[in-house]
Amino acid sequence: MNCLYDLHTHSTASDGTLSPEDLVQRAKQAGVSVLSLTDHDSTEGISEAESAALRLGIELIPGVEISVTWGPYVIHVVGLGIDTECELLQQGLSRLQEQREERAIEMGRRLEKDGIRDAYAGAKAFSNGHLISRTHFARFLVDRGYVETMSKVFKKYLVRGKPGYVPGSWASLEQVVTWIRAAGGQSVIAHPARCPFTRTKLRRLFDEFVELGGDAIEVVSGNYTRDNCFTMARHAMDFELMGSVGSDFHGPEHSRIEVGRMLDLPDGVTPIWHNWNKQDLAISF
Ligand code: AMP
Ligand code: MN
Ligand code: MN
Ligand code: MN
Repeated sequence: MNCLYDLHTHSTASDGTLSPEDLVQRAKQAGVSVLSLTDHDSTEGISEAESAALRLGIELIPGVEISVTWGPYVIHVVGLGIDTECELLQQGLSRLQEQREERAIEMGRRLEKDGIRDAYAGAKAFSNGHLISRTHFARFLVDRGYVETMSKVFKKYLVRGKPGYVPGSWASLEQVVTWIRAAGGQSVIAHPARCPFTRTKLRRLFDEFVELGGDAIEVVSGNYTRDNCFTMARHAMDFELMGSVGSDFHGPEHSRIEVGRMLDLPDGVTPIWHNWNKQDLAISF
């Protein structure tokens, strides 16, 4: 049987707009057979997603997308197949969640100086009791009419050099690979084609990642071009890293990205799922 994998998605447990249950339902309708929920710095949505997946007959891989400070940059590392009860992982995630809260308060202060009042409270309301991200600030700013669209709001307020930008101090690459390994999972560099650096820096990142025992890179991501996929496939093969595939779906209103809809993994790349124990998975392959 042909399997459709989507190993990178978000729910309301971070900055997605669908509840974990609704996300699983949408993935099922889209024909996804193996789905990973990978919320930013939190595994809070996993148990709800697991119950829904069991009910709907779709395989759910517990995942997370962790924020990493790498030199002057912020990058993301996805953990797949993690034991969400792992203490080391959860301690690390708790620290990141606290960081997010502090950063959000500081973002609110900076936006206030720029004439935007109540941004922290507004973003907090959009986060609905879950962790707070720049996306929640963006939704607040669009809702209040400061900017028309989500992409404009980032450009004007929320990226480096703009009034609401606070870089945050996230985990190190080494910590994250260690936490994911401790939780029995596999680590994946998320959407490397979107990393804001040169090819030389990207290759340095992959070198370091391999050295630390990282497993894979996202060779296919929701908004990649065909060219991006082939370039990332080349890197995966060069560094003997496996390839992962994920839409990075955040919700139906997020324009062009849909759950389960991505380009195919190019030939020659070893899929991250190649040695997943099929006996352990509930669905038939
Ligand atoms: P944070 O982890 O709080 O820094 O927020 C990062 C999130 O903001 C990403 O995971 C995306 O979901 C979202 N994001 C970043 N840049 C943009 C953009 N240009 N347009 C829309 N969403 C964005
Ligand atoms: Mn996001
Ligand atoms: Mn990301
Ligand atoms: Mn993501």
